[in-house]
Order: sequence, then C-alpha cells, then structure tokens
Amino acid sequence: MPFTTTNPATGSVEQTYAGHRAGEVDARLDRAAAAYRRFRRTTFAERARLMTGAAELLEGELPVTARMVTAEMGKPFAQAKGEVAKCALALRWFAEHAERLLADEEVTARSFVRYEPIGPVLAVMPWNFPLWQVVRFAAPALMLGNVGVLKHASNVPQTALYLEDLFRRAGYPEGVFTTLLVGSAEVAGIVADDRVAAVTLTGSEAAGRSVAAAAGEALKKCVLELGGSDPFVVLASADLDEAVPTAVQARCQNNGQSCIAAKRFVVEAPVLEEFTDRFTEAMAAQTVGDPLDPATDVGPLVSESQRREIAAQVDDARDRGATVRCGGQVPDGPGWYYPPTVLTGVAPGMRAYEEEVFGPVAVVEAADDLDHALALANRTSFGLGSSVWTTDEAVQRRCVAELEAGQVFVNAMVASAPELPFGGIKRSGFGRELSGLGLREFANAKSVRLA
Ligand code: NAP
Repeated sequence: MPFTTTNPATGSVEQTYAGHRAGEVDARLDRAAAAYRRFRRTTFAERARLMTGAAELLEGELPVTARMVTAEMGKPFAQAKGEVAKCALALRWFAEHAERLLADEEVTARSFVRYEPIGPVLAVMPWNFPLWQVVRFAAPALMLGNVGVLKHASNVPQTALYLEDLFRRAGYPEGVFTTLLVGSAEVAGIVADDRVAAVTLTGSEAAGRSVAAAAGEALKKCVLELGGSDPFVVLASADLDEAVPTAVQARCQNNGQSCIAAKRFVVEAPVLEEFTDRFTEAMAAQTVGDPLDPATDVGPLVSESQRREIAAQVDDARDRGATVRCGGQVPDGPGWYYPPTVLTGVAPGMRAYEEEVFGPVAVVEAADDLDHALALANRTSFGLGSSVWTTDEAVQRRCVAELEAGQVFVNAMVASAPELPFGGIKRSGFGRELSGLGLREFANAKSVRLA
C-alpha cells in the first residue's frame, strides 16, 4: 500500500512512498528485537548523550522540519516551529531526569524496587502533532532502555521517516527506533508478534478499542490516549480579559484538531452574554488561510473527509435548532478550510453535544450556577482535560476536586509538559505519558529482596 503526503492547503499530492511489505516488516522487527538485547544494557549516561544529540539535531534543523510538518498536515508554520522546539525540550528533559526518576526505590534495608525495560514498544500514533506525539512516547521509552517501533498515521509518512532518520543521525544503533510504513489493518498482527512487548496508541476511540482488543488477546500491556471533549468553564468571577483570548486559542490551536482543545464552553449566567459576545467576535476575527503565511491564525483541516465530518456536525446542530453565532459555512476554493464557528443552544442528542468535534467549532453552554457548571462540565463520556476560570480560591479548590478529568488547569488552557503526567479517564483512555509516570508505564517494576 502506498503512503502519500497530501498538502491540506492545496489538496495536491506532494510525496508518495511505497509501504513496507511483509518481509521488510519482519526484518525491521528482527532488528528491533536484536537492538533491544544490546540497548537495554547501555548506561543512562550513554542514553542521555544520544537523546541530547537528537535534541540538538532538531534544534539545528527547526525551520525545515516545521515546514515539512506544515506541508504534510496543515498546521500554521509558527505552531509547527513551536512543536519542533517542544520536542527538543522534552528530549532534553528526559535525558536529564530519567536516571533520577528511574532510580532504585528502597522499601526496607534489604529490599528495593528496580525499574527495568521490557522490550520493543509499538507506538500507533496520530497525525495531529506528528512529531510531538511520537517524541512523547519515544523519549521515556528510549531513556528506560526499551526500543521504539513506530506505526504512524498513514497521511504523515514523511514525518514518520524523518523521525527514524533523526534518531539514526543522532547515533542511536540501528533498530533502536524503527518506522514501519504499514496500514492500520496490519497493527493487530504486529501487536501479537512475539518480538513486540507492549503497545501504546494515541488516536480515536475506534482505534483504541481495536488495539486494546489486540493487546488483550496477546496479553500485552497497552496505554491508550484517546479523544476528548474538554470543558472550558467560565465562572462569574473570571477575568474575561484573560479568559476570552485564551478560549479562542484553546479552541483554534492546531486548526482545532487537538485532543486537549477546549471544545465545550460552560459559562455561568452572570457573564454568559458578555463572554459569548466577546468570544464570538474574537473567533470571527481569526485569520483563516495559508498555514505558511505568518498572518494566518487558522489553517486548513487535515483532509476533505475531516472537513465533511465537521460540517456535518455543525449542520446537524443547526438543523435541530442550535444557533450558529459565527462561521458554519464551508468556503469555496482549494484546500480544506473551515472557519472558526460558535454554536449556542446546542442540546443533548445533537452530534455537537455528544461527540468530540475535531475542528475549530465551539459550543457555548449556559450554566445557572457553580453546581450546574460542574454538572455540565462532567456530563461527557470523555475525561481528558478541563480548564476553569475563576479568581475565587475556594471555588478553584472545589473545581480541582470535582472536575472529572486527567488534568485540570486553573485560569489557563490545558497543555502538556514533560514534567506533568498526561492522560485521561473514562473514554479518553488509560495510562499516562510524560513525567516519571510515563517513564514507568513500560517498565518491569522488579521487586528485589536480599535475604
Ligand atoms: P485515528 O484514526 O484513530 O488514527 C490514529 C492512529 O491509529 C493512526 O496511526 C491510524 O492509522 C491508527 N488506526 C486507526 N484505526 C486503527 C485500527 N482499527 N487498528 C489499529 N490502528 C488504527 O485517529 P486520528 O483521526 O488520526 O486522530 C484524531 C483522534 O486522536 C482524535 O480523537 C483525538 O482526540 C485523538 N488524540 C488523542 C490524543 C491524546 O493524547 N489523548 C492526542 C492526539 C489525538 P491509519 O492512519 O493508517 O488509519
């Protein structure tokens, strides 16, 4: 099966790659298994040296790499540069902190826990942060002494091959980081392969279900980072001068295609009208266009089918009585653009209420009071992130305690960082990436007693 890079800003095919046939996949898995047997014995110092080298390479070629990402999946160039820089930062963070975070933990004078690698880890990754999602898995995996096998999303083959090349050029031995150009139909077979120890997937619920089933069948550890419908809760005491621009950024970042984007804006009655008016005005003022143009805020959606899906979700809400405050129309012309859109009057049963909306479309919901706001925020099958806006410290504490999500950010939009665990509850998945928890997800926590 061929893999193509299609520029979302133009709809034209830029690159095509032949996929890896069964024999090539087999050879690559052999190399990964062989590399693991040696790599697991390297020291932290050696692994940190290699990882720092990968960070230096990324920093040195930042604009070129960012341009490749923009051409492949359409995010604004400035955001692509930010993604490259963040990857370098995370590589450096894990290079610096892994040894301390994975140190033996003394339990008694004669017993301790040691964290050891388990083998090649398969990573099934999405296109939306095509570098960051992979680095987020690879940095802890490689610092622990595991090796990585990447099955990237089919529409970002260029980035997938770039990552393999990056680790090779940084000096990692052959097989320590391997890209497989394969389709999703081949994933279950690779999960079952004896040379693969575990699997991590970031993507949709459907993909999560299928990978978790394959991992269950093979009795292998899996981590799932799935979708979200994060609430952005604006309470009566919120500072709207801060909340409104952050709300726009939290919804429109990455052209609206982020798992931790704010998707539902739950606003308490006293500030509902003012927030909705100012937010709508700011969303409508976003510049939509060529992602390479520095003036652009919002570039195209990743594909024609993704745009069709977003338009259908908005049309469903409109047809069933919701109000479209701005946006809501597919523009003419090439590229898969969709304008920032604000919906009010969205009710249970409408697609925009029940589903994750993976584009720059915001749903504003009215809350009578704090209790109602928390109930609305938690009325979702997802539980990835949540953001709450209030200057009242007692209310902040209550929200932190009661919001059902893997992360709660107060007076800030949800963001990932190397030092903070990242992951969700409910149908947003299980397991954690990043931080010490991420380092230990694919470790053998070996209990040792010296009698
Ligand atoms: P997707 O269709 O699930 O694809 C993600 C990856 O899974 C791709 O590599 C894809 O391969 C593979 N895949 C798809 N179906 C599969 C199956 N049945 N078995 C095995 N592998 C399968 O998701 P997407 O549309 O690219 O990404 C958007 C979704 O990812 C959203 O729901 C978003 O919220 C979520 N996401 C979550 C996080 C998080 O950290 N929680 C971060 C980013 C994105 P192919 O491309 O070959 O189909």
